[in-house]
Amino acid sequence: MLKSLFTEPKTPYPDDRGRYGDFGGRFVPETLMFAIEELEQAFKDALNDPKFAEDFAHYAKHYIGRPTPLYYAERLSNYLNGCRIYFKREDLAHTGAHKINNALGQCLLAKRMGKSRIIAETGAGQHGVATATASALLGLECCIYMGTEDMERQRLNVFRMRLLGAKVIGVDSGSKTLKDAINEALRDWSLNVRNTHYVLGTVHGPHPFPWICREFQSIIGVEAKKQILEMEGRLPNLLVACVGGGSNAIGLFYEFLNDSQVEMVGVEAGGIKIEPGQHASRFAGGVFGMLHGAQSYVLQDEYGQIGNTHSVSAGLDYASVGPEHTWLNSIKRVKYTYATDEEALNAFQLCSKLEGIIPALESAHAIAYVIKEAPKRKRDEIILVNLSGRGDKDVEHASKFIKLEE
Ligand SMILES: *Cc1c(COP(=O)(O)O)cnc(C)c1O
Repeated sequence: MLKSLFTEPKTPYPDDRGRYGDFGGRFVPETLMFAIEELEQAFKDALNDPKFAEDFAHYAKHYIGRPTPLYYAERLSNYLNGCRIYFKREDLAHTGAHKINNALGQCLLAKRMGKSRIIAETGAGQHGVATATASALLGLECCIYMGTEDMERQRLNVFRMRLLGAKVIGVDSGSKTLKDAINEALRDWSLNVRNTHYVLGTVHGPHPFPWICREFQSIIGVEAKKQILEMEGRLPNLLVACVGGGSNAIGLFYEFLNDSQVEMVGVEAGGIKIEPGQHASRFAGGVFGMLHGAQSYVLQDEYGQIGNTHSVSAGLDYASVGPEHTWLNSIKRVKYTYATDEEALNAFQLCSKLEGIIPALESAHAIAYVIKEAPKRKRDEIILVNLSGRGDKDVEHASKFIKLEE
């Protein structure tokens, strides 16, 4: 079994072929094999070096601001007249979301490997900003690939990344969005592997990426378990997290996987409705397939082409989902459902009004599920929801859909 960074390993996966049950793997062109194998070995070495964990812990505490608080959302709990609801406050991490845990961890790993240059892909810009931030902190050159369509929609994040010293390279091929940016980043990596590390932003892609990202994000669940035991003296009944690629969800869930009394729910983007092109709910509308080097569930059309997706929240708008989630779904350890755009926008407003916390639209999908579920639960039950990010980035977009009283 592979070692774990912050905890004891909870499952035998990934196995030495990079698989999670029947899912995952490493389907890359020959030109990338060297880079991928070098990265896997470097991460294994880092896990055996206490200095690496110490370095990460140092920056986690003094730079990211960890541990992030666990917060009892009393007014929301009372309003729903159900059980006790806790928020794991990843929105309070530096740069406003959980993504910095993985970006900083991978940049530290790159530095350890002697790489001076970082590349990454970004869709909405959040992962690009986190990677540009970590690169600035560690003095690494940083290049972010972004579809030109996304650059247009996310101008402020493009400015942010450039302000942080990163070069943003527009990708004009295909649909000019995230999946094209990933292809371009992989191409760059195969050409420049000697001095370059590719920071992949979620628990997807070829092995070892889903594993590396899970390891850095699993700090969320390790902290949350300790915190809830201190505050309530018992484990939560239910964990809830939104699922784009799946990194904030597995980050919370992993530590609890062997606590069989703890239920877990992953919430995907239900978009407008579950019809092709109108959502990004891979478990509701996808099939077994392959994208970006891993086998998982994929939204695709009748010809096997990658399907179009839609969500009000850019961070959940991706045609595939991390292979470990597909495995957890297949063994029924985690239940996957979805919230629609409308439900998420309602949760966005309710959470803002009752708690004074504007959640990211991604996180609002998790809260939307909690709004439906909490009233059905006994008063002493505990729901712990991952508040993956803050919603400041989303207020302008949300204002197009929400009509507020004057
Ligand atoms: C990117 C993002 C997500 C979705 O990514 P995961 O890998 O599924 O966690 C969720 N919430 C926020 C705030 C994000 O920025």
